[in-house]
Amino acid sequence: MKARDRRLLDELERALARGSGLRLAYQPKVATDDGRLVRVEALVRWTHKELGPVPPTAFVPLAEEHGLIDQLTQWVLRTGLRQWREWQREGLETSLAVNISAVSLEHLDFPDLVERLCRALGMPTDRLVLELTEGATQPLIKLMDTLTRFRIKGVGLAVDDFGTGYSGLIQLRRLPFTEIKIDRQFVTDLPHSRDDAVIVRSVVELAHGLGLQVTAEGVETVEQLAILRRLGCDLVQGYLLAQPLEAKELVPWASRHKRR
Ligand code: C2E
Ligand code: CA
Ligand code: CA
Ligand code: CA
Repeated sequence: MKARDRRLLDELERALARGSGLRLAYQPKVATDDGRLVRVEALVRWTHKELGPVPPTAFVPLAEEHGLIDQLTQWVLRTGLRQWREWQREGLETSLAVNISAVSLEHLDFPDLVERLCRALGMPTDRLVLELTEGATQPLIKLMDTLTRFRIKGVGLAVDDFGTGYSGLIQLRRLPFTEIKIDRQFVTDLPHSRDDAVIVRSVVELAHGLGLQVTAEGVETVEQLAILRRLGCDLVQGYLLAQPLEAKELVPWASRHKRR
């Protein structure tokens, strides 16, 4: 392991033990038709006092490789669920999406753990959606078992970054997902690329045909939003709607963006 990675890992372990330097940002996912807030996605943030902000793309893979991911996932779930409760008290209606690493899904008791956390923190399981990236690290049959346990408990399951994995269709056919998130790479060139529009239209049709909700990620322009609306995409998320926000910014954001 490179010296910098070793240092990052040690510091992350310390941060997790103390709960210091870590926080969650929350990015709204809004309904394409009227802009109402439907869900917020929790995104982990880490600011180290000497290294400064470390992006999740730098430390999440390290945590996955070196045995820290379960601790990180639990910290994210606990923090996100507590925050959801706080918003609930303040009268903000939303569900919560949390990114879950494929590694954490390997534990058969993970669905029970999530259910216990929900119960302990007072969140109905059907207000929680887990975002999972494609790319199986385990046999499909085992993954199917774990995901089915989540669905029986009422937890929603989204395929994150749809279109970037290698076995998307097979997974969709066999696994009990409730939502597809179209990767940003298919959204970026939407106003100009006919091919991307065809792909997005097909994914929307596929999702709706299978009874799934569809979200487009990385929406940055009004032109993209207009096309996604026309193509029947259910939810949109991206800098055009909102950057990932600090927890305390969400209620003011939501009151400025009341359903039109
Ligand atoms: P992701 O789940 O696909 O999250 C979307 C990423 O795109 C986020 O980056 C978000 O800040 C960024 N984004 C949102 N809207 C826009 C937009 O309009 N344009 C552009 N260019 N980017 C946009 P972030 O927060 O740096 O997270 C990167 C990745 O790190 C996430 O990708 C996810 O895979 C992972 N990650 C983040 N938080 C967690 C976590 O709590 N647990 C796990 N396991 N992974 C996480
Ligand atoms: Ca995600
Ligand atoms: Ca994504
Ligand atoms: Ca991603």
